[in-house]
Amino acid sequence: MQSIYRTAGPACTAIYKDERMSNYKRILVTAALPYANGPVHIGHLAGCYIPADIYVRYQRAQKRDIKFIGGSDEHGVPITIRAMKEGITPQQVVDKYHAIIKESFEQMNISFDIYSRTSNPVHHQTASAFFKKLYDDGLFEEKETEQYYDEKAKTFLADRYIIGTCPVCGNPNAYGDQCENCGSSLSPEQLINPRSALSDATPVKRKTKHWYFPLKDYEPWLKQWVLEEHKEWKNNVYGQCKSWLDTGLQSRAMTRDSNWGIKVPLPDAEGKVLYVWFDAPIGYISATKELTDKWADYWCKDDTKLVHFIGKDNIVFHCIIFPAMLRAHGNFVLPDNVPANEFLNIEGEKVSTSRNWAVWVHDYVKDFPGMQDVLRYVLCSNAPETKDNDFTWKDFQERNNSELVAIFGNFVNRVFVLMHKLCNGKVPPLHQDTLDEKDAIILREIENTKTKVESLLEQYKFREALFEIIDLSRKGNKYMQEKEPWIVAKSLETNPAAQKSIDNTLHICLQLTANLAILINPFLPDTAKKMIHMMKVVEKMLEWENAGKINLLKTGYSLREPQLLFRKIEDEEIKAQVEKLKSGLVKPATTTQEPAKADQKTKEQPAVAETKAAIQYDDFAKLDLKVGIIIAAEKVEKADKLLKLQVDMGSEKRTIVSGIALHFKPEAIIGKQVVVVANLAPRKMRGIESNGMILMAEDNNGKLHFVAPDNKINPGAGVS
Ligand SMILES: [Zn+2]
Repeated sequence: MQSIYRTAGPACTAIYKDERMSNYKRILVTAALPYANGPVHIGHLAGCYIPADIYVRYQRAQKRDIKFIGGSDEHGVPITIRAMKEGITPQQVVDKYHAIIKESFEQMNISFDIYSRTSNPVHHQTASAFFKKLYDDGLFEEKETEQYYDEKAKTFLADRYIIGTCPVCGNPNAYGDQCENCGSSLSPEQLINPRSALSDATPVKRKTKHWYFPLKDYEPWLKQWVLEEHKEWKNNVYGQCKSWLDTGLQSRAMTRDSNWGIKVPLPDAEGKVLYVWFDAPIGYISATKELTDKWADYWCKDDTKLVHFIGKDNIVFHCIIFPAMLRAHGNFVLPDNVPANEFLNIEGEKVSTSRNWAVWVHDYVKDFPGMQDVLRYVLCSNAPETKDNDFTWKDFQERNNSELVAIFGNFVNRVFVLMHKLCNGKVPPLHQDTLDEKDAIILREIENTKTKVESLLEQYKFREALFEIIDLSRKGNKYMQEKEPWIVAKSLETNPAAQKSIDNTLHICLQLTANLAILINPFLPDTAKKMIHMMKVVEKMLEWENAGKINLLKTGYSLREPQLLFRKIEDEEIKAQVEKLKSGLVKPATTTQEPAKADQKTKEQPAVAETKAAIQYDDFAKLDLKVGIIIAAEKVEKADKLLKLQVDMGSEKRTIVSGIALHFKPEAIIGKQVVVVANLAPRKMRGIESNGMILMAEDNNGKLHFVAPDNKINPGAGVS
């Protein structure tokens, strides 16, 4: 047997066996396929990638046969629209974001065995064959319906892409599914003067044929399988499934009119592709095929445990639709569990990528280099496992400073410092004859913690498991505090036997530290690596069968000097992050949002400036635009976003209140040339009368820029 020590050491004999695994020979873990039209934010990580990675790392440490599958979802209407707007091809859109997403996962140590993508040929073949099998078995219903079509853009339009006047409140920019002004839920037929969000053309009705999956035929089976046989699923998952099943299932179209996606493999299906929610989950199968020739062992053998990690918006697809598809196909295993998380809000508000209200992973790794484990820690200890939760930068700082630094990191550091100081840098012996009650208690805690953490991880309770580990280090600190080996050391001259007490305390603390490394490894892999480096042991020590043991470090073995595991995060760093978040905030775009309906892929995308309807010259001529110069600027009290400006307009000076305080410091904009809408009716803001409006341009990051002549000219000059 291989030793865990670089030199020599005791053999590991215990072979751990878990009852929950006894029926399974292998585990297949999938994490939701992120949509390739935007980067990854921390809500994604907290929702499914971090829990999935913890679970996988734990199972690997258990030496179980496990594969971790991920990839980008690259089909669907939002990608074609994005491509159209940016003037590039859909393939260019997905190439760009697939690369960004993949890199973010690598940076956060999400340890996929494969991270694939659904535009790969193997996926096209797999999804196509899946559809064809269901078709050949006569499972689909073929239906012709009328749908809105944009003759100019030559495309069918999802409801969200139809804009018109709201019949309830008269808002001219209501969507085909909802008016955001009055909240009425609408259908495109109700809109007055409907127009396409893509081309402004008036949409027409066109007949189109699609293939529907008869979900209702699977309802009795789903009720039995989910509601009776999977009562152990998390409450939020089980509850959502129950509500869908109680409402009753409808047939769903599994095809769409589009040129981007997997072509419907039938002769009379020109211009039709598989519905993105039909093809995406099959992506798990395709990626497994790419990964290993033995893919069928994982997908087709009953002794595979299949686990889907997802966010709550995907529950219906992974617990109802995909299982029904798998069942209809007949060759594949069904998920054993779908431990979906709820949503993570940011600073009290829902994450919105269109408003740029998000903490982006690529930004985090730039701003906090080498501190991936801190984010993993915070997102796990605050994970939305049972309900929506809130991420705040303040809480991030507190958890780092008062838990990772002050408890876990402090314990490990103290143990190493004292061991070097009081035991010559070597693991001291354990003197059985002088063990006291406190020693016995902490030794039992090591064993108990291992048992608790293991059981919690098998039940997908990651927060609680992590809490137990931090709690063990807390107990270690308390034990050390009570034993006071540094005080005992002072009595050595008069009482040499006291060395035994010092030895025991540090021996036990070192074995506890070795245990902490094993236990924390699935959660904070970089930290575990630093710890085994300090202990001079090989990675094999981190195998789970070593957890709970109190003979991991051999007596007399010399250890390295301590290195700090975590650093304190300062108030300024947190302030900077909060400011960054607020200043990046983009006002909601009023048109052409991505579809947000349940039967569309629910994903958001960054804002794009709206394209407004055409106006006549006379409308434009009504505006009185003038060049001005900012001569004074100050913050408006109790209004984060407002600056009170004095603007020289040539013949007069104006007070204008402008919502740019998050973007500019008052002193930095004195002397700037601006363009003012001079005949805008006066308006009171925070008690100050604002006379006019300053024109600003907003870039892709939501940052504002002044619009001004490119040379200095006289204030009061007209703009037309
Ligand atoms: Zn309305």
